[in-house]
Amino acid sequence: MGLLDRAGARLTAHPEEAEILVVNTCSFIDTAKQESVDTILEMARFKLAGTAKKLIVAGCLVERYRDEIMKSIPEVDAVVGTGELECILQAAGLSMPAAPASLSPFNILTGAQAAEIRPGLESRAATHKSDISYRPEGDHREQQGRFRRDDWHGATHLLPTYLYDESTPRFLTTPKSSAYIKIAEGCDHPCTFCVIPNLRGKFRSRRFESVVAEARQLVARGVQEITLIGQDTTCYGEDLRLKDGLATLLEALAAIPNLRWLRFLYAYPNRITGKLLDTIAKHDNICKYLDVPLQHASPAVLKTMKRGAGADIFLKTLEKVRAAVPGIALRTSFIVGFPGESLRDFELLEQFISEAKFDWLGVFSYSHEEGSGAYSLTEQVPKRTVEARKRRLMKLQQSISKRAKQQWVGRELVVLAEGESDETPLLWEGRTQFHAPEIDGKVYINDFANLGPHVTALEPGCFYKAEITEAHEYDVVARILAPAM
Ligand code: SF4
Repeated sequence: MGLLDRAGARLTAHPEEAEILVVNTCSFIDTAKQESVDTILEMARFKLAGTAKKLIVAGCLVERYRDEIMKSIPEVDAVVGTGELECILQAAGLSMPAAPASLSPFNILTGAQAAEIRPGLESRAATHKSDISYRPEGDHREQQGRFRRDDWHGATHLLPTYLYDESTPRFLTTPKSSAYIKIAEGCDHPCTFCVIPNLRGKFRSRRFESVVAEARQLVARGVQEITLIGQDTTCYGEDLRLKDGLATLLEALAAIPNLRWLRFLYAYPNRITGKLLDTIAKHDNICKYLDVPLQHASPAVLKTMKRGAGADIFLKTLEKVRAAVPGIALRTSFIVGFPGESLRDFELLEQFISEAKFDWLGVFSYSHEEGSGAYSLTEQVPKRTVEARKRRLMKLQQSISKRAKQQWVGRELVVLAEGESDETPLLWEGRTQFHAPEIDGKVYINDFANLGPHVTALEPGCFYKAEITEAHEYDVVARILAPAM
């Protein structure tokens, strides 16, 4: 979006107004693929109706099914994979003007703009139909072979290598106070259920200075909350030979004045070091929050997943985390129905969840993906059993979460106001440092009378001191006490 914006396109979130449609896709599990294909077909209707002149498909689905997309959806004019982001300009028929040295890489939208973006895309695109598929010259690979990990040894040159840096234009659509920074791309872990490394390439970290420079630029533009992401953030810097890469990076970012909340997502369990935990504990502006996807707790399942460990080791890790960072909120996710998961394996997982008492938990049904290490495993768990196991775990977590949230009642916490509630205009929504953006429960605010008789609304993107007054299964209710300076 940043590249298109810089090249002069006017962006709109309304497909009926667009001359060029870009569908950014995901394809790591079945439901994501389905959603991507449905969206492409939905957008193709605008081309058939004549309002749009070009349809571009971008992202992971392209890495997986490049040729199939071009062949089976004739309305698609171009595809742009995850490793060739800059080709979006060529695909759209745009070119990048020379940027003056002082030009900021960011175009940050206000809340209202983010919702609307700018209507009416004035395309400078060529009108002829093209069938560009941006495969490097001389690359005669079999597309289906692209995402087989076995091929990595002889074919790493076929994997995406793209990494953005601090000068890459970005177009932020997150609320004005918050932004994500991707600190690394790709993954070298061998998890057998996962095709992400095949779509995103080998693990590579962004330069340390580039991440710090981007964070500084964001904070200078008013961003107060930064969330670091990557397929595995805890490996950050290993390829750059940085010792304690993530901890060192957090240290540098935490020192940026006016950055109020800093967090990272997706920690790999055996990469959570004492130094990393000490860094989280030491800095007030590093959120006491850890997202550590564990995937399962049965040693047998974890072994076939090529993740290793088991419930006992994980419980010790969690104990270490809680001792080093008292009060830390823990999120994890699990997969149920992995091939060969027996009732005993499932019960081990269930027992582990009861003991571990996570603050936030996601449960996903196993998705049988071609190109994954587990694709050859034949002992499939019946769909009905998978769904029943998923429901059982979510019910268990619901009761754990409800009890934990009740402990919050009466506590005074800092809340970031995000806007009026989607459900009713009588409530506002916000988050504490224990909620990551978009994924965890919510803080509903039903009372801000303390701010004075003339205050009729909260300021989205502002921080307030609040008292938690009620707890529900995942969400809590709060009343505002005062602005948090
Ligand atoms: S660490 Fe995450 S992204 Fe990497 S292979 Fe495992 S599940 Fe996939």
